[in-house]
Parts: sequence; C-alpha cells; structure tokens
Amino acid sequence: MASDATGEATAAEVPPADVIGIAAPRRRFAVALTPARRRILLALVLLAAALFPIVHDNDADIDAVANALSYAILALGLNIVVGFAGLLDLGYAAFFAIGAYTYGVLSSFQLEPLWSSFWEPFAWLGLVARMAQSGGPDVVHFTLSFWLALPLSAAVAAGFGVLFGAPTLRLKGDYLAIVTLGFGEIVPIIVRNWSSLTNGAMGLNGVAAPRIFGYSFGINAEPFYYVGLAMIAFLIFVSFRLRDSRVGRAWMAIREDEIAAGAMGVDLVRFKLLAFAIGAGFAGMTGTFFVAKLQTATPEMFGFPVSVMILVMVVLGGMGSVLGVVVGAIFLQLLQSWFLEDLSGWIHSFGRLVGSDALQRVDLVQAIELIFGIILVVMMLFRREGLIPANRRTAALTLQEQHAEVRRGAAIDLRGFGQERTDVPALEVRGVTVRFGGLTALQAIDLSVPAGGVVAVIGPNGSGKSTLFNAITGLVHADSGSIRLYGEEILGLPPHKVLVRGAARTFQNIRLFPELTVLENVLVGQHARLQTGALGAVLTLPRTRAEEHAAREWAMQIVSIFGNRLTPRLNQRVNALSYANRRRVEIARALASRPKVLLLDEPTAGMNPAETIELASQIKQLHTLGLTIVLIEHKLDVVTQLAETVIVLDHGEKLAEGRPEEVRQNEQVLTAYLGRSAGAGSAGLVE
Ligand code: ADP
Ligand code: MG
Repeated sequence: MASDATGEATAAEVPPADVIGIAAPRRRFAVALTPARRRILLALVLLAAALFPIVHDNDADIDAVANALSYAILALGLNIVVGFAGLLDLGYAAFFAIGAYTYGVLSSFQLEPLWSSFWEPFAWLGLVARMAQSGGPDVVHFTLSFWLALPLSAAVAAGFGVLFGAPTLRLKGDYLAIVTLGFGEIVPIIVRNWSSLTNGAMGLNGVAAPRIFGYSFGINAEPFYYVGLAMIAFLIFVSFRLRDSRVGRAWMAIREDEIAAGAMGVDLVRFKLLAFAIGAGFAGMTGTFFVAKLQTATPEMFGFPVSVMILVMVVLGGMGSVLGVVVGAIFLQLLQSWFLEDLSGWIHSFGRLVGSDALQRVDLVQAIELIFGIILVVMMLFRREGLIPANRRTAALTLQEQHAEVRRGAAIDLRGFGQERTDVPALEVRGVTVRFGGLTALQAIDLSVPAGGVVAVIGPNGSGKSTLFNAITGLVHADSGSIRLYGEEILGLPPHKVLVRGAARTFQNIRLFPELTVLENVLVGQHARLQTGALGAVLTLPRTRAEEHAAREWAMQIVSIFGNRLTPRLNQRVNALSYANRRRVEIARALASRPKVLLLDEPTAGMNPAETIELASQIKQLHTLGLTIVLIEHKLDVVTQLAETVIVLDHGEKLAEGRPEEVRQNEQVLTAYLGRSAGAGSAGLVE
C-alpha cells in the first residue's frame, strides 16, 4: 500500500486483486440514478403517460397502448413468479383466463338462472338484477361491478394459484415447468368445452363495460387507458415494495439456492405458494380489465402462445427487474400492433420497387411467434440479464474504503444466542443412522455438545461428517436415532423449522445467494426472526419499518465481527467477493439467525494460512461470547486451538472421542487419516 500521495493514486486505480478480493465489475452504471433522480424520472414518465391520450388523440393508438399496459401487468405478475422466486411457469395465461371469466360470467347474459327469493339480497347489493322475459318466468341477470370484480378476480385467480401450486411446487425446475405447461393447456380446454358457463369458442356475449358515476366506458379506449395506467402504477409500487422486503428477499433466496434458503429458515412451500398466488392475482385482475375492454372473452385469448409471449416479455425486459419487464412488455406489444404492420408495408413497397413477389407477400404480424423466438435466442446469446437488468452492478472499492477503520464487534449484543438452560446439552445426537441405499453413511452416531462448548468433528473425506450436519439440520432423512436441541427433539423437522429451533449452519461448498448483496444475504439469515408478510411489506407501516431498520442494524453488527472485511462491502453482490469473504458472509448469515448452536462445515477450507488464523480467532471470539459451536475441520491446529472435544468419524462410525491432544495420539485415528501408525510420526497430521 502506498503511503505518499502519488503512490496512492496509482494504487487506487489498480487495486491488487488479492487484497480486494473482488472481480472487477464489467461496467459501471452509466448514469448514477440516485433515488431522488429516479423519482423525478418516474414522475416525468407518468406525466407523459397521463398526457398521451390528450396530445395524441387517436383512438386506435390509445387502445393499442391500453392493451400493452395490460400485458405489462401480466409481465409484472409473471416476474414475481419467474423473476423473483425463480419458478418457471409456462402456463401463466391460465390465471389470466380465470380472472377474465370471473368478471365475464358475473357481468354478462351468459348465466340466467330462474329468479327466486334467494337472489333478493344479491339484488339489494347490486350484484344481480331481476329480468323479465317475454313469455316466461323472470330470470337473474348478473351485474357484478367492474370495480368490485378487480379485487375479486385477483382473489379468485390467487385461490387457483394456491390450488395449482400446492401439489406442484414441491417439484423443481423442469418438472414444475412441465406441470404448469399442463395447467396452461387444461384451463383453455375446460373453457372451450364448458359451454354452459363460457359459451365455448363463440365467446361470452354482452359483457358489461365498466361504469363510474353513471358514465359507461362503452368502447372508448381513453377511460380504459387511464384505468390501465392506474393499475400498472399501483402494481409497480406493489412489486417494488415486495421486492425490497423480507418477502422479496425470501423469494430471491429461493431463486438463488433453494437448499440454502430452507436452511436459513425460509419456508419453501409457503413462500413459493405466496409468489404463485400473488402472480396469479395480478393476472386475474388483468383478465377482468381485458374482458371489460373487449366485452367478450374467447378461449384463444389465453392459450399457450400467450403464456410464451408474457415469458418473452419478462426475459426481454430482464427477469426480476420491475421496470425492465414493464418496458419489455410495452415494447413487444407495441412492436406487434404498430411497427410490424408499418414495417410490413415498407417491405411491400420495397418489393414492388424491386419487383420481388416474395417481398410483397411478407407479413411480419403473422410471423410474430417467429420474431419472439428470435428475440429469445438473441437475448440468451448476448444479453441474458435483459434490457434493464435487475442487478445493480457495484463498483470495486477504493483502497481507502477497504481500509476504513471499522469498529470491531465489541459492542455486539449476543443475547438470544442460546445457553438459556444448562441442565441439558445444547445439542444431543443419539444413535443416528443414515443410509443412502446400500451405503451406510452414518452408523449409530452419538454426540453431545454442552451449552457454550465447542466440539470438533474430524475424519477423512467421505467419513460422514457433512452427512451428520445434514441429518441435524433436516436436509437428509435419518433412518433412526434422536437429535435434541436443548432437550427438544428436532429429528424429522424440515430445515426451516430446525433453524427456527436454533440450529444454523454453513455449508462445505459455500451456498450463498450469489446475486444478492452481502447485506441481503445476512438479512435472509434473519428471515425466521422477522415477521413482515406480503401485506405488511406493501403497506410498510411504522412497525414494518422499525423491524427492517432493526434487522439492518443487527446485520451490520454481525458483519462487524469480521472487522473491516465485510463492512465496506455490504452492498456488493456476494459473487463478486473473494473466497474467504464468501466464507465469512456465510458465517455471518448463519449468525444473523441468532442460533443456539452454530454448525460450521469446514469454515477454513480453501483459506490461506493468514486467513485461517484470522478466522480461527474470530470463531474463538464467538465462543467467548457464549455461542455453542460444532465445527468440522481438517486443519488440526485449528481444532486444537478451538475445540474442547473432538470426535473422529471413519466410514460413518465414530472412531474416537476425547480432548484434541488425546485424539491426536490415537493409533486408530492416525491410521485412518494417514494410513500409517503413530510410530511413523504424526507430523503430517499436525500440519
Ligand atoms: P465428509 O463430509 O466426511 O467428507 P460426507 O458426509 O459428505 O463425507 O459423505 C459420506 C458418504 O455419504 C460419502 O460416501 C458420500 O458419497 C455419501 N453421501 C453423502 N451424501 C449423499 C447423498 N445425498 N446421496 C448418496 N450418498 C451420499
Ligand atoms: Mg464434508
């Protein structure tokens, strides 16, 4: 590091990679969009959007933009499912259909049951009307208001989202995609064939236009445009609020690494269902809007090509990027309704000019699916993150930033870290056996960790150490035995519940959420200790704000345990960090959950000697602060320095147990580790 002024300038320009430990970002954000500037920009865009129909008084164009807005809402909804939670849904249009028919059926002449006194209260509420028929008994006419239908169809679609999601969301990746594809096919087929409810392929007739203060929208594009604009502004707001909350972080954690998310306390099924339901809700609302605008609904409006189109919009705009998907959707929709027709016209005239028959027959509007396909391929090849990427790229730190003095985790308040009872062991494993088919990975293992103790687990590769951690944290199923945390049985609990009970872990092969920042990773660690749900996130009442603020404070405190290693990098994405720093983030993330027992799987693996010494002293510090630790470790000097007790595993069996010095002398241990006896010297083991 240079100390004189000239030297410092060069050093800051070319930071040595090993000190910084971050890959140089591909490019800096071209314009620094501060929150204030962003707000001004957004206000300008909204103003322009509000003035558009006044300035450009062309009904067809306004109508096209209103349609584009409804696709943008669909893209926003799908973005929650695919972009935030990482669940590939190929049948999203099914929810669009459900919302559409909810309003369509309840405000048209499709169903006309005979009038009876049962309908009186509904008539009184204005949901139905009594209609006289010439030469027959009176019938019911459904007259659900459009304004009421918006939330109702959102709720109905969300309900179906839960219904479809519950059995399928346990599936992963490709399987989920295929099942959703199935739903996307089934719904339009049901719609087509259930003629009594939907009028089949002929389409619903006489769907009522929205009315407000006695004024009917009719087929005027303008009022629909403004309703669409209001809806999209509202849903962009909702998307942002969700994204920046505990809920959004949980979704992104699932997207980034499902196993780690579960181990950090995220209830996978619940949060996936939530994403599915909210995404479906957006689509349901759009369905109502769309049908009210067209005043009919046919099954073709909701087929597989529509699902694909919405997905292309999301991919084009940038998965997970709220504004990106809106831009992507509006762009693609207007491309279809405006530019392609003009473009085809130009090609035709060009064809006439050069006398080419083929060129005169080109119809780009018909080729839209081909164009979507090309867009997908091009995006995947050249810009996978979309037009407006969700990820904020962060610039590398300057040397000054890296060496900024940071208060070391001295003032940290570790209450909540367990040790509430001392009459039972913090962790007690009894007779745990794990089999993978024919392989017995663990054979009747016993392990007892006293409150406030540090126990190390050592053994050659493949001896079952990680499997022991997996069994404790619920990631693998133990065939027999018992695992108690402060006397409470945790065996058989899913990972997120184990974390809630107080066992947090790190993984041998670091499992962070790579696209999230250091701060966000550590905040996900607190997931189970926070309360904010989807509604709370959208409303952001003072209570939520206070909770979020406290969570951030706690994250900073935890991170400060590692001195200035992580603190200056709080807003960097973790995939830009050095290996050692990623290990530290993983430990910080586990600590953030206020565990009673911390399980560290080879925390110093891949670290150089200096980093190892530093981390060992930090682990020791945690121990002095009262944390109970189980440590898998290969470096025996670290084990000797930290652990009070060591257990040695070999081929799934416990070979030895005792104080580190004793175990180091054990003949069997030496043979297992080095394949030679104590007489041959134990230098290799000690190193
Ligand atoms: P260690 O952490 O001590 O190196 P592990 O616990 O990872 O060892 O592995 C113990 C044994 O169990 C190995 O033989 C490994 O191949 C096997 N094993 C671990 N996980 C699984 C799994 N999910 N399915 C099948 N075999 C597994
Ligand atoms: Mg292992």
